[in-house]
Amino acid sequence: MPITVLHSEPVASRRVIVVGGGLAGIAAAAALDDAGVSVTLLESRRELGGRASSFLDASTGELLDNCQHVLLGCCTNLLDLYRRLGVSEKIGWHRTVHYLDADGREYNLWAVNGLPSPFHLGFSMALFSALSPVDRMAMARAMFAIMRMGRSGREKLEGVAFGQWLKELRQSDRLIQRFYDPVLISALNEETRRVSCKYAVQVFQDAMLANRRGYVVGLPDCPLEQLYANRPCADVRLNTRVDEILFSGHRASGVKLATGEALAADAVVLATNHHAVMRWIPEHLRAIDYRFAGLVNLESVPILGVHLWFDRPVLKKSHAALFEGPLQWLFRKDAQGRVLHGVISAARSWSATPHAQAVEEFQTQLNRLFSRSGAKLVRSRIVVEKRATFSPLPGSDAWRPPAAPPDGGIADLFLAGDYTRTDWPATMEGAVRSGYLAAEGVLRAMAPGGAAPKFLVPDMPPEWPARLLAR
Ligand SMILES: Cc1cc2nc3c(=O)[nH]c(=O)nc-3n(C[C@H](O)[C@H](O)[C@H](O)COP(=O)(O)OP(=O)(O)OC[C@H]3O[C@@H](n4cnc5c(N)ncnc54)[C@H](O)[C@@H]3O)c2cc1C
Repeated sequence: MPITVLHSEPVASRRVIVVGGGLAGIAAAAALDDAGVSVTLLESRRELGGRASSFLDASTGELLDNCQHVLLGCCTNLLDLYRRLGVSEKIGWHRTVHYLDADGREYNLWAVNGLPSPFHLGFSMALFSALSPVDRMAMARAMFAIMRMGRSGREKLEGVAFGQWLKELRQSDRLIQRFYDPVLISALNEETRRVSCKYAVQVFQDAMLANRRGYVVGLPDCPLEQLYANRPCADVRLNTRVDEILFSGHRASGVKLATGEALAADAVVLATNHHAVMRWIPEHLRAIDYRFAGLVNLESVPILGVHLWFDRPVLKKSHAALFEGPLQWLFRKDAQGRVLHGVISAARSWSATPHAQAVEEFQTQLNRLFSRSGAKLVRSRIVVEKRATFSPLPGSDAWRPPAAPPDGGIADLFLAGDYTRTDWPATMEGAVRSGYLAAEGVLRAMAPGGAAPKFLVPDMPPEWPARLLAR
């Protein structure tokens, strides 16, 4: 049985349907379009962007983001996609990471200009007075161990909980709360101690220890929706819901829309979340394609975002990580610092909390944080995304499917989405990587034996001291 149906016509005469216009679908469509394939991108909502997009606030008509989305300098593929879409200049870059304690005292991490990684952040880490000197020494020891183990070391720790590793490295509770939690809970949408060591280590290796530009914080200067105004391919159909995937024997042959219209295709890329994918694949086809077997094991974790309007400016800096909750991060959404966005990741306990009660708790936290300003909260809007991302728990890699069908699997059916096997956690960068990998798979299948283009952009190169220090 061949891996996919072999084709002999040129790719330009092929039609690929991409289902789902989140970042994975946008990336797959953009890459296939660049390769000359005829692509149709189908999205059920009124706009592209999926989870990383915006909605119209009915009460004010304002365009609000589902939730603040943050990228880092090390997100090489997301940045590549922004370049393709011509929106790179809409990302504002912030070279200082700001932290606030419960009383609003500020602490900062920043890099020394010109110093290569890993020394670039060393000076500000050594002076980071939010941690005791003993904790700073312990953190330096852990960072050194993380750098030494390299990529192969982190792969070996995929099945280990980061909490166990932190214990072995004698990292104190206060150090975990003030250093690891602000970074990891938001990056991985899971509790620090529960995540797979592989992904926790990756965050530090890629963002802080390899390249001096890796840690720099990127925040869109516009509502997320506006990042997708330039379409990734000519045929983008919004408000178009796919109801069914059509199969011809053991191959995907097209889709059926909610309107009843059928669209034929030479290949179908499913770029929705995995919950939708599971509904679409009939039992007898799941039985021949192992990609679907583990999806039920991926655990979804909620994220809470709250839009906050104050009667006067409260936050001068673009963002702040908060040492004490319930809100974990704040972002400034206007030039004055009057409009903020607060985020709680791994927000399991918040998804059933009545909004009025949640706002009361946030207000208590914010009153203490901004007590000197005397500001009043005049309006708020909470958005809880219950299935925000899957949890990168130890062992979860086994449940993540590759993009292309295995031998004997469902031919011409490709998967993209942050949950697929990208080696990245569920992030915008992971979603874009998945889209590029799916596009590479489609083109490999269309030109068997021929040279298929590569879309995946390499990670940032480790600088020479980081290279020398890694094993
Ligand atoms: C609240 C929140 C905060 C986050 N914060 C960050 C962050 O700060 N940084 C970061 O990097 N990542 C963040 N993420 C994660 C990031 O948003 C996701 O990893 C990424 O956007 C996933 O993209 P995707 O394309 O894989 O999936 P999705 O964005 O879910 O895209 C799937 C698309 O498929 C469409 N679809 C579904 N069913 C159908 C159908 N039947 N027919 C047609 N279309 C369909 C959906 O409408 C959707 O547009 C956050 C996520 C959430 C929810």
